Amino acid sequence: MARRNVIDTRLAGRTTQQRQLILKIIEQADRHLDAEEIYQLARQGSPNISLSTVYRNLQLFKEQGLVEEHQFDGMRRCYERVPTSRHHHMVCLGCGRVFEFNCPSTERIKSRLSMEKGFKVTAVDVRFVGYCPKCQRRLRHALNDKEMVQAKRR
Ligand SMILES: [Zn+2]
Ligand SMILES: [Zn+2]
Repeated sequence: MARRNVIDTRLAGRTTQQRQLILKIIEQADRHLDAEEIYQLARQGSPNISLSTVYRNLQLFKEQGLVEEHQFDGMRRCYERVPTSRHHHMVCLGCGRVFEFNCPSTERIKSRLSMEKGFKVTAVDVRFVGYCPKCQRRLRHALNDKEMVQAKRR
């Protein structure tokens, strides 16, 4: 019985360690990571961690409002630590890059919702899509080149 307890404690210890590791990876990331990327990074610190453990913890963090999940391209889900994610996203339809911008009014809306409606907001997902300056230039050039080719043909 005593032996079993020791094993259980060790197992619980490992679970907590892996949980903290995953959270730290998300926290320290300088970009938006998906589950696979988090898994690859987690393996460096905890070689026997499994992808399903990563998914399970991401789900848990989401429910607890510790991380936010974003789906920028409609396929890949990315994760971000909540206290550091007081920003919104602009997603470029040309190159797929994600830009962040701050929006303090969201915090005000959040606290108003909890005061007036008693609603606990665990995630905010505001996404603007369009074209970044680089892609706008690229598109303009592509358009100009096409016009030039057509002009030459005439
Ligand atoms: Zn772009
Ligand atoms: Zn972000």
